Amino acid sequence: MPAEQDMNQVLMVDGNAVAGGLQQLFGRDMTIVGTRCAGCARSAEIGALMAFVRGPGAVLRCPACQTAIVRIVETPAAQYVDVRGAAYLRFRRSPSR
Ligand SMILES: [Zn+2]
Repeated sequence: MPAEQDMNQVLMVDGNAVAGGLQQLFGRDMTIVGTRCAGCARSAEIGALMAFVRGPGAVLRCPACQTAIVRIVETPAAQYVDVRGAAYLRFRRSPSR
C-alpha cells in the first residue's frame, strides 16, 4: 500500500462519524439515507461513505471512485451542505428504514 494511501486511511473514518451533525441538520438519522454517486453511479447509504473530518469541514467520499459526494462546512453564521457529488439523496418514507 503506497504511503499516500496510508495517510488517507489514518484520516478516514466512515460516514457514521458525521451522523450526529447531519442528524441535527436534517432532523433524522442520515446514515441510512441512500445516495447515488454522480461520478460512478454507485449506490450507498451515507453511513457507508468514507468520511474525512480533519479539514475545515467534513467530506464524505464514494468508496469506489473517491468522488466527494457530500461536503459539510460550518461557519459562525451558517452550515453549508454541498451535495453536488450526489446524483440524488434517497429518503425512505418509513421511519424505521
Ligand atoms: Zn463513485
